[in-house]
Amino acid sequence: MTVALPLPETLARHRDVYQEIAASHPSLLNGKVWCPSCGRSRVVDAARCLREGWPKCCHGTMSLDQLRNEVVKP
Ligand SMILES: [Zn+2]
Repeated sequence: MTVALPLPETLARHRDVYQEIAASHPSLLNGKVWCPSCGRSRVVDAARCLREGWPKCCHGTMSLDQLRNEVVKP
């Protein structure tokens, strides 16, 4: 016999996980994303994006701002 957590408790745990992820990554904490196609940037609530879906622009999801620095060639 399996013991399942009540749904509200499960959802609350997921919220905590998203908050932890958002708080553990500097780029997520910064909350800034950008579109690799058009270069448009915007500030988002990282925890909310992880929970409800990452912001999209043009043909795909927007990237974390930090990735732009990694893409730039020296
Ligand atoms: Zn775009």
